[in-house]
Amino acid sequence: MITVLSGGVGAARLLRALSDVMDPSELTAIVNVGDDLVLHGLTICPDLDTITYTLAGLNNDELGWGLRGETWRVMDELDALGGAAWFRLGDRDLATHLYRSQRLTEGASKTDVTRELATHHGVKVTLLPVSDDPIATEFLTEDGRLSFQEYFVQRHHDVVVSGVEITGVESARATNDVERALEQSARLVIAPSNPVISINPILQVRGVREALRARRDDVVAVSPIIQGAALKGPADRLMRELGYESSALGVVDFYGDLVGTWIIDEADAALADAIRSRGARVEVTTTIMAEPENARRLAKVVLS
Ligand code: GDP
Ligand code: CA
Repeated sequence: MITVLSGGVGAARLLRALSDVMDPSELTAIVNVGDDLVLHGLTICPDLDTITYTLAGLNNDELGWGLRGETWRVMDELDALGGAAWFRLGDRDLATHLYRSQRLTEGASKTDVTRELATHHGVKVTLLPVSDDPIATEFLTEDGRLSFQEYFVQRHHDVVVSGVEITGVESARATNDVERALEQSARLVIAPSNPVISINPILQVRGVREALRARRDDVVAVSPIIQGAALKGPADRLMRELGYESSALGVVDFYGDLVGTWIIDEADAALADAIRSRGARVEVTTTIMAEPENARRLAKVVLS
């Protein structure tokens, strides 16, 4: 069994590649829920949905989120009414959020609903929200305190951040399934997801960081930052704003003593010695997953 700490897009790509080179039923993802929100009374879980849709082959590559072949009739009507149409939810995607919200009202947990949606879409990877308790990532910015989607979607993450807080995380519990995966998996992988806003909310849940540290030799991480830049999103900028270098080395320092083996891109080969001097093993390979062949090569390095 292999377990992958996961955000959205970066993690979904690695999970898809791993599924190509191993039995996906032996793969578990522990997924960030700090981006989750309630809008129009609906519970929306962006990272869980991105992974589910990607592994089902339904992801919209043009947008980078949501479902392919989507239509927008509900949003157009909502916009005409003057409703909150800034957070785009496609017509088919809305069915996911309606289903989830109703099931939660009936007493199902987020873990239950995630399993139901994955099963419906034929996804064999076990997807586990890190916690069934509410956790919300918030940003302290020059415009005041912003919720995740106010920062990410409304402001296009183009605002100066002085701090990131994961509200609710002190009282949130990792689920039993998550605890078991952290204890029993042969290998724990940190996906090339945004360290600050995708992986950190998972690590802050009580017991998770300690579980990784205790198993450091079995922890493998892939850097999401290549040649000092994120492939997408604000990971590089957020690292700098929070006082870390925007580089693979900055990511190494961000995770500290949790990671036994680092996988960095060929373009960053010159950083390998500095990472080794911090006490970790280093593998250098292609880490850009745009080409399926490269993604599979990376997946094999993760498993080797
Ligand atoms: P989000 O929750 O959808 O924003 O996605 P994640 O946090 O999972 O992933 C965003 C991060 O993934 C960015 O920092 C990207 O640099 C990184 N990323 C995306 N695709 C790739 C890839 O092919 N290779 C690597 N190494 N990183 C990637
Ligand atoms: Ca996300």
